[in-house]
Amino acid sequence: MSLQLQFFGATEHVTGSLYVLRAGEYTVLLECGLIQGGSADEARNSDPFPIPVDDIDAVVVSHAHIDHSGRVPLLAKRGYGGPVYVQNATRALCEIMLPDSGYLNEKDAEWENKKRSKNGKPLVEPLYTRADAEACLSQFMGIKYEESIEVVPGLTLRFHDAGHILGSSIVELTYKDKGPVRTLVFSGDLGYRDAPVMDPPKQMHRADAVVLESTYGDRLHRAFDETILELGELFETAHADRGNILRPAFTVGRTQDLLYLMAEHFDEWQLGRWQIFLDSPMGVDATNTYSKYRHLYGAKLFGPDSSLPNLPNFHASRSTEESMAINAIRSGAIIIAGSGMCTGGRIHHHLKYNIGRPECHLVIVGFQAHGTLGRRLVDGADEVKLWGEIQKVRIQLHTIGGLSAHADQADLIDWYAAFENRPPVYLVHGEPDAQQPLAAMMKEKLSAPVSIATYGLSIEI
Ligand SMILES: [Zn+2]
Ligand SMILES: [Zn+2]
Repeated sequence: MSLQLQFFGATEHVTGSLYVLRAGEYTVLLECGLIQGGSADEARNSDPFPIPVDDIDAVVVSHAHIDHSGRVPLLAKRGYGGPVYVQNATRALCEIMLPDSGYLNEKDAEWENKKRSKNGKPLVEPLYTRADAEACLSQFMGIKYEESIEVVPGLTLRFHDAGHILGSSIVELTYKDKGPVRTLVFSGDLGYRDAPVMDPPKQMHRADAVVLESTYGDRLHRAFDETILELGELFETAHADRGNILRPAFTVGRTQDLLYLMAEHFDEWQLGRWQIFLDSPMGVDATNTYSKYRHLYGAKLFGPDSSLPNLPNFHASRSTEESMAINAIRSGAIIIAGSGMCTGGRIHHHLKYNIGRPECHLVIVGFQAHGTLGRRLVDGADEVKLWGEIQKVRIQLHTIGGLSAHADQADLIDWYAAFENRPPVYLVHGEPDAQQPLAAMMKEKLSAPVSIATYGLSIEI
């Protein structure tokens, strides 16, 4: 019997992670992520799944980020009733993130339908609703790191710490039938060597095929101490400018990294002069989950008896009223709000009040996909449209690469280099500009049999 893997998502792209593993007569969906980016990309989320839903026997998801988990509710809505295997903390985070994603879909559809009903066009349905997302959570089976579980006959799953966000996993799948044992290792999203909160990704030593993310395959992050200096300077300049600091956040992962760093460097950065707002109900809930699962990482993000970060001037803002009150603050606020690529969420409101003010600072930390507002800002847009209004961009923009939550080129190569048998490696979760240099470097340094996975590619393991 054969073990076959086919690539249907995050091929030559970062988002929409989705692969199909066929183990003998069984079919496992590895990842079921949402496609994110411009509206043309996102429209593809409602396409039929690449294989019939009825054929799927089990689903495995590497971590809670929506580009890996965000189409699970849609899969369930279309009839999938089987198990979704995730790490325990991932399950807890999905309980927060998937209903939120459903809620955003409802809001998007409402917005779209307002326009459509004016123009007499047929109305659209949300991709899935909050209720759909809540309904599928009972299918999530949480397992511990390093625990083995048979997901379909002959196929054993093990999660290993990927060091990217809480619960993030390297997925090891071992297939045993009458033939030799075969092992597929999927990196998921990998953390980086100096990550503030998470531990480094676990090194693996043997596989018959490796699927490797390549988000930052073309670059080396700045040394971590430089990032710390850069952040210190930023807080100093921003204080002198007497404005606010806006920080679009991926509410799970980088937000907690930043909170941790601010607590660690509180005196050095003179953060007592600021009010720090986490303006995101999801960010607040996710931070609580980080507190609950603090045994999964080494950093001391919380005090021994507290589920709040060690920051005296920290405000967790949940309600709309609390969020709107922040809009009145002209100076001295550090505002962390979603979404991370400025595609929606409360950051839009804060941009509205601050984007035209040269005394304010916008700090971009994470990857910005093509077609997003965050990307346009990073690419130097002079003006942007917010709430239907054109606004001049006068806010000072900073991109801080050293805090990315993803491995850089050196980390990716080091992680693969630990495989003693140099298995074939397929690059996913990256744009071609990042993948080509990584592939070239892996060939040159390690003579690695490396390919860039393309949509529909099928391999035999
Ligand atoms: Zn991720
Ligand atoms: Zn990802």
